[in-house]
Amino acid sequence: MVDGKIIEGTNGASGEFGHQPARGKSEGKLCGCGNKDCIEVHTSMSYLFKAISENLGLDCKLNGFQVKELLRAGEENKEVEDMLVKEIVQSNPNAKEIALSRYNEWLDNIANAFADVASGIDPKLMIMFGSILHLITEGEFEVLVRKVKERSFSKKAEIRKSTLGSMAGAIGAALLDS
Ligand SMILES: [Zn+2]
Repeated sequence: MVDGKIIEGTNGASGEFGHQPARGKSEGKLCGCGNKDCIEVHTSMSYLFKAISENLGLDCKLNGFQVKELLRAGEENKEVEDMLVKEIVQSNPNAKEIALSRYNEWLDNIANAFADVASGIDPKLMIMFGSILHLITEGEFEVLVRKVKERSFSKKAEIRKSTLGSMAGAIGAALLDS
């Protein structure tokens, strides 16, 4: 939106920043749009969960709760609740390290995506919303914001977490329609 007006673009896709090639990626990973290595492919939570599961040699794909438990296993004496994660941690001493490695790469991909958007449109504010906010810690969010500033031409663009939870998109659409 610019000055309260929706800018639709020639194909109705203005402001869609999911399908540019992801910075530094040439893995040939197919995106739902038909192209390969789009930003969406390398920044989605689904991609992250799949990558971690594959790297751990699992037959199934871990869900968000399981990934979170694996990433935080052993911290603050937290007991792992999920049975599968418990099994993984016990049978593979490097499991957490492997998961963290994929996770940090994924956070880096997100930082690059935000930096490219910031450089392209020089916004005042960018808002992050969705289930990603349940996964990343406060400290990781701060690192992400710092990386975006370092890698972007636009140094002043602010990044905030949405306070509207997972319904942010729906609430925004309803407000526009009212
Ligand atoms: Zn795509």
